[in-house]
Amino acid sequence: MTYSYSAPVSQSLFDRAAVVTPGGVNSPVRAFRGVGGTPRFMVSGSGPYLTDADGREYVDLVCSWGPMILGHAHPEVTEAVRQAVERGTSFGTPVEAEVALAEEIVHRIDPVEQVRLVSSGTEATMSAIRLARGFTGRAKVIKFAGCYHGHVDALLASAGSGVATLGLPDTPGVTGAQAGDTIVLPYNDLDAVREAFAAHPRQIACVITEASPGNMGIVPPRPGFNQALKDLCHADGALFISDEVMTGFRASAHGWYGIDGVAPDLMTFGKVMGGGFPAAAFGGRKDVMEHLAPAGPVYQAGTLSGNPVAAAAGLAQLRVLGRDGFAAHAVVDAAARQVRELVGEALTKAGVAHTVQTAGSMFSVFFGDWGEDGVTDYDAAKRQESHRFTAFFHSMLSQGVYLPPSGFEVWFVSAAHDERAIERIADALPAAARAAAEAVPA
Ligand code: PLP
Repeated sequence: MTYSYSAPVSQSLFDRAAVVTPGGVNSPVRAFRGVGGTPRFMVSGSGPYLTDADGREYVDLVCSWGPMILGHAHPEVTEAVRQAVERGTSFGTPVEAEVALAEEIVHRIDPVEQVRLVSSGTEATMSAIRLARGFTGRAKVIKFAGCYHGHVDALLASAGSGVATLGLPDTPGVTGAQAGDTIVLPYNDLDAVREAFAAHPRQIACVITEASPGNMGIVPPRPGFNQALKDLCHADGALFISDEVMTGFRASAHGWYGIDGVAPDLMTFGKVMGGGFPAAAFGGRKDVMEHLAPAGPVYQAGTLSGNPVAAAAGLAQLRVLGRDGFAAHAVVDAAARQVRELVGEALTKAGVAHTVQTAGSMFSVFFGDWGEDGVTDYDAAKRQESHRFTAFFHSMLSQGVYLPPSGFEVWFVSAAHDERAIERIADALPAAARAAAEAVPA
């Protein structure tokens, strides 16, 4: 595919980056490998907009992959960060901001009685799994195909192939020993979970699931799925871990827990709670959390855990979100609804088969036809017509709308996505929908 626009400054930065950094990016999702072309190097963000190194402005529908729920450079978050930085950036001692952030999380999310702050979602899930194993004295972990929990060795085994189903390594560098205790099951398939517990009685430490998966595109749990997972875990003495790194404080004010009300034993958080800084957390039942060092024997630590600047940013963002009866979430909800309706209308008008799936205020768009059931698992998600997404993505990009460069990702909006930003999306959609309609497989 050729592109009818260029980004010379981004291109030259990318050329430089490719010399010193593998693939030119520090996280693979930022590369345009799925859609082709040159990743845009951004130089600034304000509200719903990003400006790239070539001086082009975009309406941002990535929002840093979730964290920027108030939009970029929100004045109160910026001010909290400025004040924190002026006091010093890291002390290696406890600070009040981390207590306040932990209190905010405990106060907001009922099942979390105690919480430990870390620096990334990956660290949160890795530590939660270790804690579950330490608490139960068991080794095996159930995860679901298509769910992403960060690049934890034991959790990289994913879907789609028999090799992955056996828990063998998916990624070179992950050994059989590291992944051998991971059981990968199809999402939304309770029979498969029952069979796994029957096949490995009292050996499974935990089931970890995305609270409502967003990493294969949005594939919500069938009604009752999470509750049944929890019940199956408890019947066997295993722990139920809900990964809310993406959904936490975003799908609703109380994350996915605020929508389905199923109280997990452990939960993981990241993205929104860090306010755009490297902050994440895991927490849950006090009797489980007290197994963590120094209270208990399960070791977990971090030089920059609870960093005062990151904690100040996260706290400021959560406090703004929590103000006025969570009005910010109502604004995010309304913006998300508008965008997904506009996308649906444009694609329907252009005759492009698609399904828009939602989970609270989160949504994603699949190109293809899955009938009434929609996309219920990873195998179904992989049947999407990626050539249509590619054409759609590049048309939107050339018209100044920045979408996630992959059909397997959530589109994120913020409370700053106002009428003007949404109008710009609406203006870009007809041409993008036509491009999708005309696209042919490579
Ligand atoms: N868990 C979920 C559900 C995620 O979506 C992600 C990242 O996208 C992670 C864990 C890993 O978080 P991080 O990228 O901060 O390591």
